[in-house]
Amino acid sequence: MTVSIWQAEDNQPIREVDFLIIGAGLAGTAVAYFAAQAGRSVVITEMRDLALGASSRNAGFMITGPDTYYHRAIELYGHANTRELWALSEKTHTYWRGFAKTGNVRLENCGSMLLAESAEEAVQLELAARALNADGIDVIYHASDPLKRGYFAAVEQPWDAAVQPYELVGAVFKASGAELVNNNEVYKIEQTDPECVTVHTRQFVFQARHVMICTNAYSPFVHPYFVGKVIPTRGQCLVTEPLTENVMPVCGYSDYGYMYYRMTFDNRLLIGGGRKLYKELESTSEDRTSDSVQAYLDNYLRTKFPDVTARVDRRWAGIMGFSIDGLPLVGTIPGSPRIGFAVGFTGHGLAFGAGVAERAVDHLLTGASAGILDAARLA
Ligand SMILES: Cc1cc2nc3c(=O)[nH]c(=O)nc-3n(C[C@H](O)[C@H](O)[C@H](O)COP(=O)(O)OP(=O)(O)OC[C@H]3O[C@@H](n4cnc5c(N)ncnc54)[C@H](O)[C@@H]3O)c2cc1C
Repeated sequence: MTVSIWQAEDNQPIREVDFLIIGAGLAGTAVAYFAAQAGRSVVITEMRDLALGASSRNAGFMITGPDTYYHRAIELYGHANTRELWALSEKTHTYWRGFAKTGNVRLENCGSMLLAESAEEAVQLELAARALNADGIDVIYHASDPLKRGYFAAVEQPWDAAVQPYELVGAVFKASGAELVNNNEVYKIEQTDPECVTVHTRQFVFQARHVMICTNAYSPFVHPYFVGKVIPTRGQCLVTEPLTENVMPVCGYSDYGYMYYRMTFDNRLLIGGGRKLYKELESTSEDRTSDSVQAYLDNYLRTKFPDVTARVDRRWAGIMGFSIDGLPLVGTIPGSPRIGFAVGFTGHGLAFGAGVAERAVDHLLTGASAGILDAARLA
């Protein structure tokens, strides 16, 4: 992002704040909640408005666990770290459920199914199920397709849920009691002295005791530290007109997570993903749908759901922040111990958001270890 001299003459009023959060999505509002719980007075600055980033564009899957199959996660991150990630995801869902309950947010305990699109993926699913069961996680492995739609196998997680994500962010924000300053883009962040961070924005120059960056996909535009660590990645969805039947009783996902589908609360079929063949094109922060991915989703709708004849009613995109090793990043900017961050959710903000936010607040305010989330692992 660049800023002209006309926009930024640095004559905006100075505002002193205690704890300033940049970005009002799932992460920013959850950070606001935990910072307020820690006794801080919290202000969120947001370039658009509450939840208008990925947090209101997602599919609303509350699926426990990391983005790779469990046995692969063990290979990639180690066994203890994978268990830590699973526990963090469970904790996150407990928080979301609490916010959803008090905030009257629509949430359905429909469970999830990870489905195999090929015999090869079925083998991987069985390995994942075995590794999960060995760790005392009672997923159910189905050697054939329980949904009768041509899948090869399934792993069922009956405790997972589908949520209305826009409402959820609203509820988390309300519970935080924070102040939101919208239409207030951040231009520059610098720790000007040991106890103060100066944040230049459209409307104010903030002087904050602590700052937390929660800009996920947009983080490389906010601070150079994130360049090459967080990669903006576009996700796309479509939704049909309301159907008369429930054609997908669970949150379903397949093709190693590249495809996902669920019913909305007004009985529409939502299909998302379709990025697998277009990874380079979809490595972008451009907020628009693309013909190629939407054609892929259309084709998936026709082939996997031939019984659905309703028209597609809406198509949209959102920008995810993929970290380069697939795990969220928590830490402070090197040399700036009062500037923290909780970013890089890699398409799994509903799986990890609240747990990551809690750790990021602890880490920034008390120096507590961020564990597997510690961004220093990428150094
Ligand atoms: C199509 C799609 C489907 C998805 N499906 C799922 C799913 O089913 N389950 C799941 O767990 N996850 C899913 N995700 C991922 C999930 O939406 C994200 O992980 C989550 O929303 C990240 O939350 P966040 O608050 O970190 O980021 P965001 O919601 O993107 O919030 C970042 C905020 O920062 C603001 N910002 C950026 N730059 C600045 C600046 N300079 N100044 C001020 N503000 C700024 C932005 O406007 C934005 O509001 C999906 C994502 C997409 C796009």
